[in-house]
Amino acid sequence: MYLGISRKSVLVTAASKGIGRAIAEEFVSEGAKVAICSRNKEHLLKTSDEIKNKFGVEVLWCVCDLSKRKDIENTINAVNNEFNGIDILVNNCGGPPRGNFLDFEEEDWQSAIDQVFLSAVTATKLVVPNMMEKEWGRIINITSISVKQPVDSLILSNAVRTGLTGLAKSLSNELGKYNITVNNVAPGYTLTNRLYELAVSRAKEMNTSHEEVLSEIAKGIPMNRLAAPEEIAATVVFLASMKASYITGCTIPVDGGYIKGL
Ligand code: NAD
Repeated sequence: MYLGISRKSVLVTAASKGIGRAIAEEFVSEGAKVAICSRNKEHLLKTSDEIKNKFGVEVLWCVCDLSKRKDIENTINAVNNEFNGIDILVNNCGGPPRGNFLDFEEEDWQSAIDQVFLSAVTATKLVVPNMMEKEWGRIINITSISVKQPVDSLILSNAVRTGLTGLAKSLSNELGKYNITVNNVAPGYTLTNRLYELAVSRAKEMNTSHEEVLSEIAKGIPMNRLAAPEEIAATVVFLASMKASYITGCTIPVDGGYIKGL
């Protein structure tokens, strides 16, 4: 399928590892101009070197802590200068810590809101005017199955990501007339560092191994396995493509059938 994004410029946030990195690689393989950001310079250098070795293409990278407004502004300015605007914004972020309601204080809630919700608000606000001028744009938020079916012991994620889902739907109403689509991709259990760490933490509580925890999770998924990050990335790149020109305001789960609702 011809996706028509080979000349588009893309920023994928939180993309030195995991799902964000897989998304960046998928865009690179489609010939798009790609920028990535995350907090850690060494991880960014390693990732950009590995992408260069794999695809023969340079990605632009910026050190950016998504909980800091100034870092997001600096990143968007740097990408705008290099690429002359951002056509496709993928708002990914690190996941909030695991825990239940009484485990968290107000500052934990604020930190989850900063990282998951306000980072996307800030980045989106900075890219939208240019998209409106060009009358073309794609905004895709990486959320979670938790927006459709709360996940046990992930109360920060369950609560805060639904705000982003509401924002995306509202924005899709405002921006449709400028030919800008706004969607969410909700990953299910995906084999990344984040899932590994969650499994290790759950394994300690249950006095078992993280392999056992991951195997139990897989048993609860109709596809009977965890997702590979590339499977999430494929959906994101499709939503960013010319072929998805009439899809907006949606949350697309990529979860192997995990969500039980219709
Ligand atoms: P990961 O831990 O493998 O990678 C997270 C990336 O975010 C890394 O590049 C890290 O450097 C970056 N990051 C973390 N905090 C940051 C910050 N403050 N500023 C900038 N960059 C930051 O995670 P992942 O599994 O790829 O998950 C990506 C997102 O998808 C997370 O929000 C996660 O909660 C969500 N998600 C993951 C799964 C899963 O099973 N892996 C399922 C549903 C949702």
